[in-house]
Amino acid sequence: MAKVIFKDIKKSYDDVEVVKYFDFTVEDGEFVVFLGPSGCGKSTTLRMLAGLETITSGEIYIDDRLINNVDPKNRDLAMVFQSYALYPHMTVYENIAFALKLKGMPKAEIDVEVLKTSKILELEPLLNRKPKELSGGQRQRVAMGRAMVRTPKVFLFDEPLSNLDAKLRGVMREEMKELHRTLKTTTIYVTHDQIEAMTLADRIVILNEGYVAQVGTPTEVFQKPANKFVAQFIGNPAMNMIDTKLIEEAGQWFVELETLRIPLPERFTHQAKKDLSVCMGIRPTDIHVRAEHIDHDRVFECPVTIKEKELLGASILLKTKVGKADFVVEIAATEVVSEDSKLFIDLDAIHLFDSATEQSLAL
Ligand code: ADP
Ligand code: MG
Repeated sequence: MAKVIFKDIKKSYDDVEVVKYFDFTVEDGEFVVFLGPSGCGKSTTLRMLAGLETITSGEIYIDDRLINNVDPKNRDLAMVFQSYALYPHMTVYENIAFALKLKGMPKAEIDVEVLKTSKILELEPLLNRKPKELSGGQRQRVAMGRAMVRTPKVFLFDEPLSNLDAKLRGVMREEMKELHRTLKTTTIYVTHDQIEAMTLADRIVILNEGYVAQVGTPTEVFQKPANKFVAQFIGNPAMNMIDTKLIEEAGQWFVELETLRIPLPERFTHQAKKDLSVCMGIRPTDIHVRAEHIDHDRVFECPVTIKEKELLGASILLKTKVGKADFVVEIAATEVVSEDSKLFIDLDAIHLFDSATEQSLAL
């Protein structure tokens, strides 16, 4: 087990900077997820740690050891990729044993290690099969087994579940979580899938265009997004965003919504400025069709036009309009809505972002 320190890391390909500033410490035993849209620099950052890419500037340490110039095979890391890259002509046993054999470990010891690992991953009945005789999920487990036998200091995963179907991804997520609970090995996991990040991570590092947009626990990044990017990236369906401005009247601050004025919760007022252009965010689940669903009195009632209803199973998505502004609202499927329904916005759940800087006004 180990801690990983990225110090002021930058990466360019020719004159294109793809990692602009990455400064972050993964604590010993932690499960950290790098999350962000395709092309934001997740794999590049991971590959610099693994030694598969050069570091343009900055330093990476594993515990106290500077590893910038350490040969990849001596970094004590094990990486699992999206494509499992198993050796097709070898059995499951041979695939898992390969790295140990290469190290020159005696056969009897290899046997012990392979059996121990295959037991954890429930691969024992499959040890004599070739990769082509396995399902996607089983291949994935063999790839993990190959990484695990090396008892690395840190596990690196780059989108390891992307090739699996949705149901299997769910199963494998639980297995990964369980594995981490058992082994407690420091883990860095790269994905563009917010559900994987939310379910697996102790902490999430959200990346956007080569920068860190926010670091936090799954709850923190969901409840307190530091900026507009994070607010819209985390959560499904996405947070409603309305461009508007701040108004002050007799000491009370408001957000203007069409002809309506929504009173501003106190947590924003220390950063409020007259006529400041802001973006108001509200999650579909924080707008209700009945005021009783909000357990306090900081509620704003507004008339609404319901354009569409979409049944998702346990819930319904309402596509609504408040004046010209679009609001998506998610309510329980058991809820009854009518033509003249009203919406009740939970004022405690409002987010405000400065339109110019895109930073939250609640920070
Ligand atoms: P992610 O894993 O977040 O999808 P990557 O780290 O793979 O993103 O890539 C980040 C950016 O760097 C992308 O714009 C990609 O096109 C670019 N890139 C990656 N590898 C190379 C390379 N070998 N040469 C030039 N550009 C690259
Ligand atoms: Mg990638």
